[in-house]
Amino acid sequence: MNHFIDVIIPVPLKKLFTYGITASEADFLKAGMRVAVPFGKSKIYTGIVYRVHNEPPTAYDAKDIQQILDDAPIVNQKQLQLWQWIANYYMCTLGDVMRAALPSAFILESETVVIKNKTKTIDETVLKDDEFLVYETLHHQSSLKIHDISNILDKKNVLPVIKRLIEKEAIFVEEEVYEKYKPKLVRYAKLHSNFSSETALQKLLDDLNRAPKQRQVIMTLFSVSATTKKPVKVSDLATESGTSTAIIKSLIDKGILEEYYIQTDRVQYSGGENEATKNLNEYQEVALKEIKNAFNKHAVTLLHGVTSSGKTEVYVKLIEDTLNKGKQVLYLLPEIALTAQLITRLQEYFGEQVAVFHSKYSSQERVEVWNHVLNNSGKAKIVLGARSSIFLPFDDLGLIVVDEEHEQSFKQFDPAPRYHARDTAVVLANMHEAKILLGSATPSLESYFNAKQNKYGFVEITKRYNDVLMPDMELVDIKDKFKKKLMKGHFSDRLIEEMTETLREGHQIILFQNRRGFSPIVECNTCGNSPQCPNCDVSLTYHQYRNQLRCHYCGYNSVMIKDCKACGSAELDSKGFGTEQIEEEVKTLFPDYKVARMDLDTTRGKFGYEKIITALEQQEIDILVGTQMLTKGLDFRNVKLVGIMNADNMLNFPDFRAHERSFQLMLQVSGRAGRTQERGKVLIQTYNPYHNILQQVSTNNYVAMYNEQMNDRYNYKYPPIYKQIKITLKHKDYHKVDVASAWLAKSLKQLFKDHVLGPESPPISRIRNQFHKNILIKIPKQQSLSKTKKAIIKINNSFFNIKDFRSVKIILNVDNF
Ligand code: ADP
Ligand code: ZN
Ligand code: ZN
Repeated sequence: MNHFIDVIIPVPLKKLFTYGITASEADFLKAGMRVAVPFGKSKIYTGIVYRVHNEPPTAYDAKDIQQILDDAPIVNQKQLQLWQWIANYYMCTLGDVMRAALPSAFILESETVVIKNKTKTIDETVLKDDEFLVYETLHHQSSLKIHDISNILDKKNVLPVIKRLIEKEAIFVEEEVYEKYKPKLVRYAKLHSNFSSETALQKLLDDLNRAPKQRQVIMTLFSVSATTKKPVKVSDLATESGTSTAIIKSLIDKGILEEYYIQTDRVQYSGGENEATKNLNEYQEVALKEIKNAFNKHAVTLLHGVTSSGKTEVYVKLIEDTLNKGKQVLYLLPEIALTAQLITRLQEYFGEQVAVFHSKYSSQERVEVWNHVLNNSGKAKIVLGARSSIFLPFDDLGLIVVDEEHEQSFKQFDPAPRYHARDTAVVLANMHEAKILLGSATPSLESYFNAKQNKYGFVEITKRYNDVLMPDMELVDIKDKFKKKLMKGHFSDRLIEEMTETLREGHQIILFQNRRGFSPIVECNTCGNSPQCPNCDVSLTYHQYRNQLRCHYCGYNSVMIKDCKACGSAELDSKGFGTEQIEEEVKTLFPDYKVARMDLDTTRGKFGYEKIITALEQQEIDILVGTQMLTKGLDFRNVKLVGIMNADNMLNFPDFRAHERSFQLMLQVSGRAGRTQERGKVLIQTYNPYHNILQQVSTNNYVAMYNEQMNDRYNYKYPPIYKQIKITLKHKDYHKVDVASAWLAKSLKQLFKDHVLGPESPPISRIRNQFHKNILIKIPKQQSLSKTKKAIIKINNSFFNIKDFRSVKIILNVDNF
């Protein structure tokens, strides 16, 4: 009898490939193991065994595999099942899913580049001959391709050698350079040793009688260190003593206090006793009971809890329960919300059982987490991770928490698989018969809808922890302010007043400026022309700090122009405003305070994001200007005022979710204000204070927003009432993409009638020299989604049978919102 395996290889092929194996290999191989297989003329890929069987392929002669790479599966049955679901639901190939799912160190292939691990000294005597040859060559050559290694060893079959070298930590597989988390430095203060004697101290306190604030700092330092018996952070000292870091600084300058830094390692768990989890207050307690009850009927439950209601502590109790049952936990968060704050908080409770998985980690580190999860090891009982952690090889999952479930970044837009991690997590939980809790202060309409339809369980917390009041919201009509000449730049008199007051009290301020759809564009005052990107049909944006014009889609840039390219006039105006401009204006308005900015530009560098957060936490920043990055689950104790510079550009963004998103964004940023006893203040500047969304934001009325938006979704046939699939066609020849998209839309319309929209040119119709056309298919609830997809695939196939269309690229995006 002949033996075969079906193999998934990480390329977008519609079908699995079948390879021949020997009888003993068939005995040994199991689904989920890696094999090295030849593909095409000379390529070699790492594939995952999908199925072992005895059916020869009919269309071709099966080639033999090159090598078996694993002793045991690295991908389990449930994962393969999930991959299959993703491929079907999101209309992509298993190869696409495989590439997204596996850390790149698992996928050796002929294009892989290996480099020497310079951080480790290798005892060369432990290397086998072939390993030594490769390692030796890497002394003289910075990198090698698999193909070069084949030549060096004079054999085809080299992946096992590479695999062994990786295991011995002699080499790395090259990838983007990932940054490891650096330990953060936290500033502490102690009394200078000059004052350790009783008499010196007494004299100091007497001297300080004339400086009551400074005296207060010293007294607080004593009382805090007496109670906590731990080093005292400068920031804590400032808050506890009710003074400011400036006063502490003057004590340091005078040599009364000494400052020093301690590294607090944010990722590695340093051991030590675990803390007991916190006692819940009555609202949290009720919510926890209700969640457990809801779980009896609904595996999926939505927790709608206002910002700072203490949702995390509720999750912690559920996690504790799940661990006690010996099961694994997945805690999903948007990438950027995976902050040190949260990691530390969970490690305090659960110690080394917490593993973190996200894109800042190197492939090697991700492999480590992968293996811990695969072996259900004690070191990864709780995985705290971003979107892609749904791909980990969970063995026995008991609970998934999806925090900030409304966040758009759970959806992967490019490349395929274009999956939504929250929705995929629901499927994953189902496979493990696990419970899944979706949490948010501003749930997505689709989750809230599912809860209302009784498809999901539903639990609410309406009170903030410790009865901290919701911030006081004020809408400022800037049209009126402009008329009355009460604006300075982009700042209304009200905003300036509140900022002045807040700063005088020693509190911090966050100013929010929406990034999307609002970049500084240069426009000629004489003829109205604005410089365009030569590749993208989109206006270039002005970057003051580099004095450049840049395209946000393709990265094209040029120096800022001196005069209009169209009419030669030198009167150029930069329309709109970005965070940079706000920062400049703040610096002029409040020259004595420290201003910082948080946006894509300032956080791109090494740990930029973490650095700014730490600086804010440590109160080294008085005013922080930022984009949506500010909204994500951060807990800043001393921020009292939040200013939203311009609500209108969010509301006017051309997208059916713009209103929902504006509501979510504004409430989330507002949630950063006044998280302690002091009531926070939020000021929203707008041209249109009577906009319903702004009224709903200012009264924190989620239900009114939900009802109104759902009404629109019914009327205009949008999700969650209708399902949606977007088809994008791309080609460098406009005529071709035009004809092709017209053909495709016409064929689709024959079937789906007026539920097909388009083809349309998107607002940016050319990106990287490719013209785009979009077709949107709306799918009513009663229409079978799987049949619809089958029909689309069939039409697609006929499309590609037309010779002229073959070079057109088609992208399918299911739930494209
Ligand atoms: P949310 O996630 O709902 O915005 P958090 O879980 O971050 O709220 O809680 C807000 C603050 O209240 C945090 O600083 C947290 O430590 C504190 N907190 C919440 N619940 C408790 C509790 N039961 N005991 C002590 N502190 C709590
Ligand atoms: Zn001009
Ligand atoms: Zn461009």
